[in-house]
Amino acid sequence: MGWLVAKKVTELLDRYPDYPSPIDIELLAADQGCNIIEWPFLGPVKEVKQGKWIGLAPRLAPEERRYLIAHALGHDLLHCGNQLSFRGWQDLSYRKQEREADEFAARVLIPDDESLKVIHLSLWEIAEHFGVPEDLAIRRFTEFATEDDRCRWEWAYDDRCRC
Ligand SMILES: [Zn+2]
Repeated sequence: MGWLVAKKVTELLDRYPDYPSPIDIELLAADQGCNIIEWPFLGPVKEVKQGKWIGLAPRLAPEERRYLIAHALGHDLLHCGNQLSFRGWQDLSYRKQEREADEFAARVLIPDDESLKVIHLSLWEIAEHFGVPEDLAIRRFTEFATEDDRCRWEWAYDDRCRC
């Protein structure tokens, strides 16, 4: 399924060639018609998406807020219906959708072309550069990396090391 998420992200970002990097995910979500509201959830829930509404827990760290908005936007563009994050933990299709939304978030916040420019940095530096949680940066370069990604990173890395 990786290619589908990658394709969706490319299509989306191609529509906004003038966006600065790191991407302003709040602006992108607004451009996609999503409304972000803060909601004082009870318990461990930090993000809920319903229709075009993205509910976020207040006082999140900036990196986590960026990740959760991108994750919710992924649900919006990849899946129909509502994603209530406190429902159906055991459900296989639920877990698949969650993983796809995470992959979407990782790819939107660390886009292909931008990833080539930072390939020589450490993962925590990359996370800091893109304003994302370190865990998401790690997954971008491991779990969510396609064969194509790895090839391009290798080339970019070798290129830097030759000079
Ligand atoms: Zn989700």
